[in-house]
Amino acid sequence: MRDKRIKPNTNYIIKRCSYCNGIFYAKRTIAKFCSDTHRVYSHKEKNRSANYFGKDPNEGAWLPPGTIPSNEMPESKLVFTGDLASLLVEISEYLTKEELDRKLESILGLPPYSETKSWQDSSEQIINNEYYLEVFRILIADYKLYVWPEEDNNPNSSGEVLNLKDNIIKELTAQVEKHRNVVENLENENQNQKKLLNAHEKLREQRKRMDG
Ligand SMILES: [Zn+2]
Repeated sequence: MRDKRIKPNTNYIIKRCSYCNGIFYAKRTIAKFCSDTHRVYSHKEKNRSANYFGKDPNEGAWLPPGTIPSNEMPESKLVFTGDLASLLVEISEYLTKEELDRKLESILGLPPYSETKSWQDSSEQIINNEYYLEVFRILIADYKLYVWPEEDNNPNSSGEVLNLKDNIIKELTAQVEKHRNVVENLENENQNQKKLLNAHEKLREQRKRMDG
């Protein structure tokens, strides 16, 4: 793969990486990352926050009985269920040959969910500039393919989850600020009361002396 951080001789557009904010030279306007590594990092970070908030991808949706859902892909993004050969035909509509070649080994090596009982072990995700894909092997001869197009606000494109995280951080910061103000006010009040008490005490002593 071409190193996008090195200026190519041919046509290019200058873009900023969504992960490291560094400049890179893209050939397509929708390119978002300076390298595959940063694409993967960015994806992992977003998924970490998604898992952190325990978001159910099928929240509110009705699933047919017996459905084995993905942990991250809504069932509404399912485009295919079937055997390996048909899966490979289907998936090649969304990936370039190079992209598929790079992932082929992992896809072929997926153990079925019926044996692992682990979505993590039995699924493989692939992200390119246009799609967020997931292959989920549920039975020995049964694969599921989910496709979430970039323009359809997939979690890798929209920063939806990051926005959620940002909002929560903002909310928490505001609350901390509010509490800090309350504490400050209480401290001020405390000081005032102490001053008042002192003044009172002095007054009483003065009066005592005058009386005496
Ligand atoms: Zn980068």
